[in-house]
Amino acid sequence: MAGAVTLDGKAFAAGLRERVSAEVASLKSEHGLTPGLAVVLVGEDPASQVYVRSKGKQTVECGMNSFEHKMDASVSQEELLAKVAELNADPAVHGILVQLPLPKHMDDLAVIDAIDPAKDVDGFHAINAGRLMTGGKGAAAPMVPCTPLGCLLLLRDHLGDMSGLTAVVVGRSNIVGKPMGQLLLQESCTVTIAHSRTKDLPSVCREADILVAAVGRPEMVKGDWIKPGATVIDVGINRIDVEGGKTRLVGDVATAEAREVAGAITPVPGGIGPMTIACLLANTVTATCRQAGIDAPD
Ligand code: NDP
Repeated sequence: MAGAVTLDGKAFAAGLRERVSAEVASLKSEHGLTPGLAVVLVGEDPASQVYVRSKGKQTVECGMNSFEHKMDASVSQEELLAKVAELNADPAVHGILVQLPLPKHMDDLAVIDAIDPAKDVDGFHAINAGRLMTGGKGAAAPMVPCTPLGCLLLLRDHLGDMSGLTAVVVGRSNIVGKPMGQLLLQESCTVTIAHSRTKDLPSVCREADILVAAVGRPEMVKGDWIKPGATVIDVGINRIDVEGGKTRLVGDVATAEAREVAGAITPVPGGIGPMTIACLLANTVTATCRQAGIDAPD
């Protein structure tokens, strides 16, 4: 009998999208303002195309304007930067997202840093990353990257006060691991960020009251790496081959064995994936409010 509680990101994300829709409706009726999210997709990466379609659909479903800009993989960085500048200057666009990864001839960080930080709904701009680290509040509050924000919302919902808990984040990417570590530090957790050079990773993970796996390696985190009762957040999305020439999505955690030990765990799919897009929509409303000088929702 599997013991862990399932942290249902799909259901939580549906609730979050409802709140976003209500906020969009009141921005329209009270301020005559329709939030607009522009997504720029460069090239034909199939996974990126799926994400972009899904983001566009959910943006419209929440009552916002969605602007999709597709550019050929051979486009120059200058042309992409010109598109970003155009979107920065467009008052109908409150949020800008450049879908990563970009083609190899481009410098991802230079492109991200060209986005107006106030419109950087992915929260990847150096200003937003810096503000996350310095703990900026009010007008100086950062846009928080959507995937770690989604993890945090689920953790808060399940655990409430996290102060004093030991948190281990496996993965140190700019988009997941590092901002996740910062957010947990702000919650007054004692945080370790582990990575591919970490020695004796299983022992490090076994210390964690909160374990976040953001690695990109199918089912790497085993059941006996998990402290009994720990809360496990599985960020990984990995497609693996199964019998009959089919494929299946799995996370970075060996879920079946982890369930026997953990107190709570996010499923894959239906965990952090839907939370990420819902947080993108919430960030777009926040960005719209801040640009218009209106109090942003919590
Ligand atoms: P990256 O590839 O950018 O980073 C992976 C991190 O994992 C690196 O820091 C790397 O360490 C570390 N790592 C790799 N192998 C090991 C290992 N054997 N032991 C310990 N650490 C290791 O990935 P992302 O952060 O972009 O994504 C991580 C996962 O999350 C992927 O599966 C991705 O698909 C998924 N994802 C899911 C999202 C969602 O919406 N649910 C959104 C974004 C990502 P080092 O730095 O030393 O190389």
